[in-house]
Amino acid sequence: MALSKNLAIVEDDADIRALLERCLGADGYRVTSMPAAAGLDEVLAGGDIDLVIVDVGLPDADGLALTRRIRQDHDLGIIIVSGRGDLTDRIVGLEIGADDYITKPFEPREVLARVRSVLRRAERRKPAKEAGEPRRRFAFHGWTIDLTSQSLIDADGAPVALTSGEYKLLETFVTHANRVLSRDQLLDFVCTNDAPAFDRSIDVRIGRLRRKIGDNSAKPSLIKTVRNGGYMFAGAVTAA
Ligand code: CA
Repeated sequence: MALSKNLAIVEDDADIRALLERCLGADGYRVTSMPAAAGLDEVLAGGDIDLVIVDVGLPDADGLALTRRIRQDHDLGIIIVSGRGDLTDRIVGLEIGADDYITKPFEPREVLARVRSVLRRAERRKPAKEAGEPRRRFAFHGWTIDLTSQSLIDADGAPVALTSGEYKLLETFVTHANRVLSRDQLLDFVCTNDAPAFDRSIDVRIGRLRRKIGDNSAKPSLIKTVRNGGYMFAGAVTAA
C-alpha cells in the first residue's frame, strides 16, 4: 500500500539512516534524510513534510530540544529514536511533544508500524482542525448556543444541561428564527433518533426548554405559541 507521505529523517548514524531510508522508501514514503539538524529547518519550511524521525543524539543539536522546537513551529508527526536504555529520553521526548519513539536497535517492521500509526492519528486530527469549519455559535437574549459542541451557554459563560431533544429543539428554533414552525416540522427536526414522539411531547419539551432559557410559559417572549400554527422563535439571534 503506497502512501505518498513525506518523511524527514535526522540521524547521524549512516547505517541506521540507510536502513530507515530503505524500509520507509520501500513502503512508498518519500524520504528526505540528513545526518544532522542543520538543514532540517529548510526542509520543514517547505511545509509538505508529514512526519519527522529525530535521533535524540545528534552531533550538532540536542534531539529533544529539536523535537520541542519542531512541535512548536510545525503541525506534523514526530517520532524520536533513542538508544536502548535511554528511558528518560523517551519519557521526556513524549512529554515535549513527540508522538512516539523507537528504541535502537529496531526492526524495520516496528518502524513502519509506528510511522503508520502516527500518520493515522495525525490524519484523524486533521479534519476538525484543517477543514477550518468556523465554530458556529449564535447568541440570543444573553444565551449562546454552540452548534459545533452542541451546547448552550448562559450569560456568565456557564454551560447549561440540556437533553439531546431539548438541544435539537433549541437549535432548530435558533436557526429558523422568526419563522412559524408547525409541530410536524418540529417533530421532523427533533425526532431523528428518538422514540416515536407525539404532538403532545413537543409541547412538553417546549415547556421544559422555555423554563431552561428563562422564558415565561404564560407569556413567552422567546418561543411564542402561534395559534393553529405551531411555534415561532421570536428572539433576536446574532452570530456569536
Ligand atoms: Ca546518534
